[in-house]
Amino acid sequence: MKTAIDIYKYLPKTNCGECGLPSCFGFAAKLAANLSSIEDCPHLEDQAREKLREAVGDRTSSPGTVYEQALEVLKEKMKTVDLVKTAERLGGVLHGPDSMDLIFLNERYLVTKERVLDASGQETRPWISILIYNHLCMPDPPPNAGEWISFSALPQSHAKDKAWKGHVEEVIAGRYSGDVERLRRTCAAQGGEAIEREGSHNAAYLFRFFPKFPVLLLFWDAVPEEDFPAQCTMLLDENANRYLDIESIVVLGEEFASRLLA
Ligand code: SF4
Repeated sequence: MKTAIDIYKYLPKTNCGECGLPSCFGFAAKLAANLSSIEDCPHLEDQAREKLREAVGDRTSSPGTVYEQALEVLKEKMKTVDLVKTAERLGGVLHGPDSMDLIFLNERYLVTKERVLDASGQETRPWISILIYNHLCMPDPPPNAGEWISFSALPQSHAKDKAWKGHVEEVIAGRYSGDVERLRRTCAAQGGEAIEREGSHNAAYLFRFFPKFPVLLLFWDAVPEEDFPAQCTMLLDENANRYLDIESIVVLGEEFASRLLA
């Protein structure tokens, strides 16, 4: 399996959004994680499609099938979840014992044990439902610790460290190098809250991927005369892995990066 960056070079790079993601890079990240299908992009040239097939390798089952299977397993798990207690713990807004509103990446979703609907009442794409259900199924998360740590400091994050750096932090740093003002506008538009924090960074924004899943984006702009490239660090709450598994945190980070780039 190739990385998102390997896959990205074969994509049209028009960010048209017809694959359901706001950018071609977001699509590349999903494809690399086997969370979307080559067929979801209707604008691939035949040659690029062929190259892409070679890049993502042969799969024994289609991503759609894998996704849908994962979702079915989670729906079974959701049957045992007490939505009332879970909403209270995770910051959801209850409509009754069987449904709640939950903010996910600055958008509101209506969540039941059977489906997740977006603000327009449409059923969401499976990967969004999977992330939301994974979050709701985490057993007894403790309160947020209030201490920021890097992704690599999370237990069992080692295997995904490269993906977090390469698909989340480095793409944001590269995109906004030399353009802090634009980063600030984009962060604000994505629901980020500018915060004061000691340090040499040029921007600090607090996001809530979920109500109880805070993320702190720190950005240092490039200093060409000192040969210092732009850098971005996305810090997580010390208890973040009690709110979402590592794999899902990376997918969430990649989706966030693709929205920030779009
Ligand atoms: S990958 Fe998605 S955003 Fe990019 S061209 Fe294809 S459909 Fe459009």
